Amino acid sequence: MAGAKHKKIMNFIGGELVPPASGDYFGNEDPSTGHIYSEVPDSDEKDLDAAVAAAEKAAPVWKNMPGESRAEIMHKLAALIEQRQDEFARAECIDNGKPLSLCKSVDIPRGISNLRFFADAGKDMTGESFRADKTFSYTLRQPFGVVATISPWNLPLLLFTWKLAPALASGNCVIAKPSEVTPMTAYMLSTLAEEAGFPPGVLNVVHGKGARIGAAITRHPKIPAISFTGGTVTGREIYGTGSRLLKKISLELGGKNPTVIFDDAKWDSALKGAVAAAFTNQGQICLCGSRILVQQTIYTKFRDAFVKLAGAQKVGDPLDEATTQGAIVSHAHMDKVMGYINLAREEGGEILCGGKRLFMKGRCKTGYFIEPTVIEGLGASCRTNQEEIFGPVVTLMPFRNEDEAIALANSTPYGLAASIWTESKERARNVAARIDSGIVWVNCWNLRDLRTPFGGMKNSGVGREGGFRALEFFTEEKTVCQPAV
Ligand code: NAD
Repeated sequence: MAGAKHKKIMNFIGGELVPPASGDYFGNEDPSTGHIYSEVPDSDEKDLDAAVAAAEKAAPVWKNMPGESRAEIMHKLAALIEQRQDEFARAECIDNGKPLSLCKSVDIPRGISNLRFFADAGKDMTGESFRADKTFSYTLRQPFGVVATISPWNLPLLLFTWKLAPALASGNCVIAKPSEVTPMTAYMLSTLAEEAGFPPGVLNVVHGKGARIGAAITRHPKIPAISFTGGTVTGREIYGTGSRLLKKISLELGGKNPTVIFDDAKWDSALKGAVAAAFTNQGQICLCGSRILVQQTIYTKFRDAFVKLAGAQKVGDPLDEATTQGAIVSHAHMDKVMGYINLAREEGGEILCGGKRLFMKGRCKTGYFIEPTVIEGLGASCRTNQEEIFGPVVTLMPFRNEDEAIALANSTPYGLAASIWTESKERARNVAARIDSGIVWVNCWNLRDLRTPFGGMKNSGVGREGGFRALEFFTEEKTVCQPAV
């Protein structure tokens, strides 16, 4: 139980910052120290019912507001966050353990641009029209009214806004549930909603545990659509409950992504790209390339250079601007990642670098740090190469030719992302077409055009987000048919 001296996070319901109905809170840790520094509402059905009632009340106002006015309010929210960028970046860094430099360069700016992008895209939603001999039909895209979003801890504000923004822009009132592991920046956003001009009840943030408030959202009869990003096991549970209730569900789930290096790749960019894909955010991005497949002809040289760069990562205090590798998000997650490193040893893998928990000196001496870890010598079908580890741990595997590279790339139950590195345009086209994943990057990693579809194949998800797909997800399509004149 958290102590009374810590800052209390509040729910945001009906335009008010409110405590949970039960009065119960749990502690929120700073993973770089392992110390609890704030308290999170342990919300339950009562809080959810209040949020749904507030959202239902606000639904006609928000739905009928001109798109331009909704966009203006969303732009104002983006501007208010932008004015406090440093404060948000520091809060994200403390809450998650990720390097402050990453929060400043990626997490917070992308959170802001998500709001701006969907504010504008929402104004461009269009329908279709069909003329035939006897009929003229057109379609309308209309908001559900009340929808929910459930987001994970690895990119807290970025993914919170990635879901919230299209839901709002398409005219819905939202019940948004951030991860209980990293609730701080979603809370900070909610404190700005009134100043931005959101009518009470349009944006509601309920904090708490997945098994309690998350599960309550999934089964709530008045929430017809849920957009979820998180682990595959959770996604399966939400899909099971939600689909039985005939809810519309979007699932963005886990990955076990290949980075494929051909021997004609540009050496420096491929090497640096593979390192970034492996270790950015301590490997805790669903898009991270955790299986590095290298053509046999350059395998040894690439392996040695990769290991050298992995070993040169600066693991340390996330608040230190020079740090490239911060803390792992929680003790439980650190244990899970260390468990996989031990499993890799048991499966016969050789640890080429890293492999241990790191104990810092000074402020972070009780924090959760793991050395960037590179493993070789494992077959494609072992658990280490099949299951999502979600930490600074990668394996290296050689391949002989294109067919073998593709077979290895496709050898897991996941299909979220891949990056391929080659100077041959023909090979890039061919391999990209044959890899089973929602996105394939060629000679780059993690570049995004927010208009493009985003999502996973196989166990990595159901449906696509991004651009108009997200706006479509949050709307019902209606056909209006009349006699042709
Ligand atoms: P998680 O599944 O444990 O939790 C995600 C969210 O779901 C949290 O808000 C949590 O409280 C909630 N939740 C948990 N149990 C629930 C339940 N029974 N009912 C309803 N909600 C519940 O995931 P995580 O550990 O926070 O995030 C890491 C995972 O997310 C990784 O697997 C990663 O690959 C995945 N991820 C996927 C994408 C993508 O776009 N595909 C992006 C980021 C992260």
